[in-house]
Amino acid sequence: MSSLTLWLLLFVAIATGWLLGLWSARFGRRPNIDDEATLRERLQFLFTNYSDEAIESFVETLAVSGDTVNLHLSIGAHFRNKGEVDRATLIHQNLLARPELPSRYSSQVTYELAMDYLAAGLLDRAESLLHELMGSRDYGRQAAQHLIEIYQQERDWEKAVQVAITLVEAEPSPLRRKQLAYLLCERAEKDLARDDRFTARQRLTEALGYDPACIKALLLLADMHHHDNKPKDARLLLLSIFDQKPAFAPEAVKRLVKYAREQNSEAQLAKKLRKLYYSTPSTSLLLAMVELERRRQGDGPAIALLQQELTSRPSLRGLLRLIEITGPEHQGSGTRDRLVSRVGEMLLQNKPVYQCTRCGFSGHQLHWLCPSCKTWESVEPVQGVDGE
Ligand SMILES: [Zn+2]
Repeated sequence: MSSLTLWLLLFVAIATGWLLGLWSARFGRRPNIDDEATLRERLQFLFTNYSDEAIESFVETLAVSGDTVNLHLSIGAHFRNKGEVDRATLIHQNLLARPELPSRYSSQVTYELAMDYLAAGLLDRAESLLHELMGSRDYGRQAAQHLIEIYQQERDWEKAVQVAITLVEAEPSPLRRKQLAYLLCERAEKDLARDDRFTARQRLTEALGYDPACIKALLLLADMHHHDNKPKDARLLLLSIFDQKPAFAPEAVKRLVKYAREQNSEAQLAKKLRKLYYSTPSTSLLLAMVELERRRQGDGPAIALLQQELTSRPSLRGLLRLIEITGPEHQGSGTRDRLVSRVGEMLLQNKPVYQCTRCGFSGHQLHWLCPSCKTWESVEPVQGVDGE
């Protein structure tokens, strides 16, 4: 290649680069502070290299405009996540007070300030802002959900129900409907506590209208029917739980056995439970069947039933019951059985009876509202050889 050709090629390369640069500057996308990647880089640089005080001073001097709002919000969120709620609050209050804040951001900034107040435990201030946001297209549903959580915490069921109705109207999802049904149950329990059975029944019926599978409403209504001497109605509601949500069948079994004993209808119930056991087996159901068999036919048939079912579906509670019923007068009992019982009981003592299917929270008590993830009806009886 001649030197002239080399010079020509170099000239073409430089000219092409210059033209591309010119085109990019005129028509291409210039980097903007609002670009997600640029924003992330700047934030990372800020948080790594500067103290909280320096960042706070920087935010105070940073202009408020459509280009910088996201930077303000990200720094505010950073402080809140670090537990520096006061700093986050100041940033969001400052933004809201600035007339330069573009109106399209006012709901977002209000929402962030409400989150600061919630994090600081200033519930009344958070409540006021969240009410303002209820009509917002982008933040209305989130605001309503936070309001319900505040009212749940304060056990103000009436206000919680009001907000939940608005939320269900905007978003009639099964989860929202279940939440509303449970809030109505809480109100019904308050009515029952002051012996207003008429209103309680209305609320429970309303709850089942929103969620026909609301277990607590079914149990409370069954109790009311039992109280009103309507055993058939009570039994039908309790039996429906086996179809609606079999995981909660153990809660229905306790009541079915108690009511049948009072009504002297144990033979009828024994037949029904046997049928149900083959479609929805559980340890509680088996132990109820064994108890009914024992009362009606004696220890022999009850032990045979228990042994037969434990062979195909072993359970620790079933085994302990078997050792208990067989007693010292039966073969194989004595020191060895007492040891097995003791170890089994110790194992059960340390095992949770209920567990949340959403967050894994576990314990020995049935919570209709999970204390950890605040979901209704997500805490269920534990399944498996040491559970149901
Ligand atoms: Zn949970």
